[in-house]
Amino acid sequence: MELLYHLLPDTTNLQLKRWQFDKGQGTITLIVSAVQTVINCPVCNHPTHRIHSRYERKLTDLSWADYSITLQLRVRKFFCINTLCKRRIFTERLTSVTAPWARRTLRLAQRLSAIGLSLGGAAGVRLSQHWGIKVSRNTLLNLVRSIPLPPIVTPHTLGVDDFCFRKCKTYGTALIDLEHSRPIALLKDAKAETLAEWLKAHPGVKVVSRDRSKTYESGIRQGAPEAIQVADRFHLLQNLFQTLEQVFGTHAKALKEVEKQVFNTDTKALKEVETAHNLSLIAVAEANPCPVVPRFPQNTSLKRKVQSAKARARRREIHEQVWSLRSIGLSVQVIAQSLGVAKNTVSNYLRCSTFTERRERSDQGLSLLNPYQDYLLSRWNSGNYNTQKLFEEIRACGYTGSYATVSRFTRYLKTLHRFEPAKGSTKNVSPRISSSSHRPLTPSRVTALVLRRPELTQPNPTFFCICSIQYS
Ligand SMILES: [Zn+2]
Repeated sequence: MELLYHLLPDTTNLQLKRWQFDKGQGTITLIVSAVQTVINCPVCNHPTHRIHSRYERKLTDLSWADYSITLQLRVRKFFCINTLCKRRIFTERLTSVTAPWARRTLRLAQRLSAIGLSLGGAAGVRLSQHWGIKVSRNTLLNLVRSIPLPPIVTPHTLGVDDFCFRKCKTYGTALIDLEHSRPIALLKDAKAETLAEWLKAHPGVKVVSRDRSKTYESGIRQGAPEAIQVADRFHLLQNLFQTLEQVFGTHAKALKEVEKQVFNTDTKALKEVETAHNLSLIAVAEANPCPVVPRFPQNTSLKRKVQSAKARARRREIHEQVWSLRSIGLSVQVIAQSLGVAKNTVSNYLRCSTFTERRERSDQGLSLLNPYQDYLLSRWNSGNYNTQKLFEEIRACGYTGSYATVSRFTRYLKTLHRFEPAKGSTKNVSPRISSSSHRPLTPSRVTALVLRRPELTQPNPTFFCICSIQYS
């Protein structure tokens, strides 16, 4: 009994009367009474001793071993004796045990809040079940939402950006303390007035980093007119990325040429580039003595090629018409109506006066054969040129593609004479398809290569060839 008394959530204000143990149900019920001597009215804080009535509350507490614990708590109602107070009768508060009207003890609520904070709703429920705590996902989330926020210290450097509650429907504003890299407030909308109000209520911001939105510009001007407004790094880089992508898009032929050169690069070509640009590419070539097989071309039918060429010619024609109509001063809407195309198409074409080639498909170069190409190459270099046999071998390993694809691949290997071992040669050459050689050189990939941080950029022949073409 004494041990149970020490396990109560508050040993000063609670008195253990008796307890019930139900082994079958796995429950322990503790019957306790509140024995506070000083009771204050929650409205006027006036002390009182006049008891109105008594009633019982049931509170779930932390489990003990495999037993769930319920506190059957006997508490009182009091009269407020302050005649000026608007509250006549109030219930006894036990601030160290539980919140008013709560069905669980504070310590259990704190435990659940910690679970909810770490794991969220669904995962939190799964862990709680393992610990013998019955709780719903919404309860966990409500507990997390009810945790009071820490006080905000207004930063000198503030980041402002929008975020969506519902994409394309409702937006809010996120405010970030850029000195400590942490969010400090979420505003209910992305309006200038709301931001201005927040800035007025939190004076002291000296620099505000934002996107190029006119709304935020106006909000900052109203709320913190003395703060310096700067463009944030993300949007500057994003703009640079989009511009570079557009520029590289107009040099699609040059990129294809680069891709071809890189995949056919031999030591001689590397030497030439190295001499021209004083770069140590030979080291790269020597570090990778296996010759690289160019990207396995896609199976594009003649009909599809013709269709693709026709579509490209049509796009090019529209691009020229858009620019000629623009040169006589027509608006985007009028151009779109006269050419019978969407306004977005006209706007896209007007972004760049040079015709931009379409991007390659993102799945270009992906084939069911890809995982087996290294194996096929090693078998090929060991002198196994029988397509049917190779097909059966990889099918036994799990290949689910067709014989025609394997046949196309082996025909392709035959065209690469320099990789075919001489008859009777004992030298085992094992060319490998490097993963990078399989990725098409799209404008976005070239842009990423150019913008990548220098410390993350490995010596890459593709990159140096791009530079050489751009500079020449
Ligand atoms: Zn009162």
